Amino acid sequence: MVRQLLHSATLLTVDDSDRVIDDGWLIIEDGRIAEIGGGTRKPGPSGFDEVIDLSGHLLMPGLVNAHTHSAMILFRGHAEGQSLLTMEGWYNAIREPELAMIAEDMAPAVALSCAEMALSGTTTFCDQYFFAEEIAAAAARAGLRAVIAYGIVQLGDEVRGTEELAKASAFVEGQRSADGRVIPWFGPHAPYVDNSEALLTEEVKVANRLGCGIHLHMACGPEDNELTLARYGTTASVALEKAGFFNGRIHAAHCLDLSAEDIAVFARAEAASVAHCASAGLRSGREAICPVVPLREAGVTVALGTDNVAANNAYDMIAEMRVAGLVASHREGRAQPISSRELVRMATIEGAKALGLEHEIGSLEAGKAADLVAIDISGPGYSNTPDAATLLIYSGSGRDVRHVWVAGERLVRDRRLTRRAFAEIRADYDASYRIFWQRVQAAKEAA
Ligand SMILES: [Zn+2]
Repeated sequence: MVRQLLHSATLLTVDDSDRVIDDGWLIIEDGRIAEIGGGTRKPGPSGFDEVIDLSGHLLMPGLVNAHTHSAMILFRGHAEGQSLLTMEGWYNAIREPELAMIAEDMAPAVALSCAEMALSGTTTFCDQYFFAEEIAAAAARAGLRAVIAYGIVQLGDEVRGTEELAKASAFVEGQRSADGRVIPWFGPHAPYVDNSEALLTEEVKVANRLGCGIHLHMACGPEDNELTLARYGTTASVALEKAGFFNGRIHAAHCLDLSAEDIAVFARAEAASVAHCASAGLRSGREAICPVVPLREAGVTVALGTDNVAANNAYDMIAEMRVAGLVASHREGRAQPISSRELVRMATIEGAKALGLEHEIGSLEAGKAADLVAIDISGPGYSNTPDAATLLIYSGSGRDVRHVWVAGERLVRDRRLTRRAFAEIRADYDASYRIFWQRVQAAKEAA
């Protein structure tokens, strides 16, 4: 049995009573949290394989990035001035390079994305894209916990829809990783826009049978509701509820244009959640902002996500908590309608809940997997600590993350990746990035 003792940290437990423990300690046994405590009960150093002094650090559950498309790091900086939450923006910035993508582009791109996520404290991410097998393999190599949703688009082609669902099912059946860190899901891109109602309800039936969830985009722009408003006089959420779509585990990204009726649909559903992508939403220029406070008041699980880094440009989930806090104040017209503790919950346990992993990760509690982050708060900007969560969110940065563990394995040690050097990952990526954009250019010239 491998035993590790981490001690002398401020513990942000994110347990049911949001305990913060000063001078806290945590014992890891075989990848799981065995015990936590604080103060005088501190265990002595004997009997441990590793003892880590975390004085001057916050120790908290690993961050959960509840919505991204890790391969799209190849487009970072190439969509400036475009709203990626509209069809027009997607068409102008993404469509052409996306058509030029091949499976070989995935490994270097996803490796760099995983490296950036791990180095800034993310231990679990939820990805939705094409090339799901290659993305799952790259995530497994990186060691992060990852829900990989197989991207399904039908685009009015019934045969293609059926084929894609069959492929997605084979992916889900075949991709569960031996260590359990990679979790395959279905990822229909968007209701009605490119997945019909019939296909979506079929996807839910199959997903329930296979025991997986569904991750998709909803209510990103006015066009998301256009078809159902014209056809049924209702929004997409309401129409989908009637069709039985909300009978599965549904995790919806963005959700900017949700009416009170839509919020009620999410609240009624047994396992529906929202991934609020605050900075991507703001950068898109949409006036609508995800109604996080009303959603939470209705009891809906709201997690946080970066979206792709062509939209928000960074994987830093501490920054994402800050932007979510800022935009909530602006939307509600009052100071901090979502407290810092609640924002931390959204980036950890609520993210875990959205992915059906709340019994496994998301808080520092005995029995859970040791997915942990230690953040150095001894440097500039971290004075005064009446509330550790506020300090983290409004004064902190993902760049202060010092150690990261997933299932007790230290993936980041002293700001360095342990499985593979960042410089090597970056060099691989840079070479692949050049080849990719040459290919995009060549395709453009050939057209
Ligand atoms: Zn997205």
